[in-house]
Amino acid sequence: MPSTLKALITGITGQDGSYLTEFLLAKGYEVHGIVRRSSSMARPRIDEMTRNAEIYQKKLHLHYADLDDVTTIRRLLLKIQPREVYHLAGQSHVAVSFEVPESTCQFTAMGTLKLLEILRDCDPSPRFLHTGSSEIFGMPASAPQNEQTPLRPVTPYGVAKAFATDMVRVYRDSFGLFACNAICFNHESPRRGESFVTRKITRSAARIKLGLDRKLSMGSVDAQRDWGYAPDFVEAFWRMLQLEKPLDLVLSTGKLHRVRDWLDVAFKHVGLDWQQYVEFDPRFLRKADPQTLVGDSRLAETVIDWKPRVSFEELVQQMVDAELKSLSDLRPPLCS
Ligand code: NDP
Repeated sequence: MPSTLKALITGITGQDGSYLTEFLLAKGYEVHGIVRRSSSMARPRIDEMTRNAEIYQKKLHLHYADLDDVTTIRRLLLKIQPREVYHLAGQSHVAVSFEVPESTCQFTAMGTLKLLEILRDCDPSPRFLHTGSSEIFGMPASAPQNEQTPLRPVTPYGVAKAFATDMVRVYRDSFGLFACNAICFNHESPRRGESFVTRKITRSAARIKLGLDRKLSMGSVDAQRDWGYAPDFVEAFWRMLQLEKPLDLVLSTGKLHRVRDWLDVAFKHVGLDWQQYVEFDPRFLRKADPQTLVGDSRLAETVIDWKPRVSFEELVQQMVDAELKSLSDLRPPLCS
């Protein structure tokens, strides 16, 4: 009988980490996650699994470590001996990277290098997936972007991801590690952090519909991105680590939408016209906004047979519905 497959996830409490954990558990994996110690035990995205006695500490294990806690992570890797390591942790907010460039680079860039250094010493070395970002392309000279597009980041986040992405390539080519970059374009879900524009819009549409808010303040509504659905992406992460040889793949929908499309679909879904509720606030304008970031995932389609399944409209509507549900769950029942 084959021994249990083990995976270690950094960033398990995040949007992608939580979906990936569910995905791997359903595939029969024993999942280990690295979590940061904080003053609160709340981990809303994985609470359902950690409250389940059938799962927690049987098939799912959490371990404390910060990303630059090299000795602890080394000890964990030696003890667990996972077949696969999914490296998702990092400061993931582009705008925030202008406020905290140093820690963004410390964890996203140097944190990845430190992990690669540990993997170099492991025997056998686990298969390793790093979540890169379309922000590495910054102001690309051509669109759509693929695995060959030159890196021209324009944000501290993009620079940190570009460093990490190149280091993964260097360690694969120089030390023979099974190390891959999933070069991810934006992907969203009801579990997206509340400070991201997509969640801000879907949340606001629901709150305005329920009479909890009156206005939504926005920066540019013309910014464009290639937005997909997070659970589609985590499946691609797993597929990449099942390949015979490691490689980098762009994961994207190949379709550009504007922020105003989010407003349009989200507010229409609750029967409202967004133009009546949205007000411009220059504080939300980006210092540098990458242009025409749209991915070409044909290589992923060929080698891992992957295509995004959920459409833009379905994604936005699913996020609005999730907000409506969670807000309704919080409201006291009406007295008859
Ligand atoms: P989230 O912000 O939802 O999750 C980030 C995770 O990283 C959290 O679990 C967070 O822990 C953890 N983390 C952050 N800093 C540290 C640290 N110093 N030590 C240990 N853990 C840390 O991001 P997503 O799930 O959306 O994204 C996953 C990865 O994919 C990220 O690296 C992101 O940059 C990248 N990516 C995401 C895209 C997207 O559109 N979602 C697009 C392109 C790339 P805690 O809960 O304690 O904060």
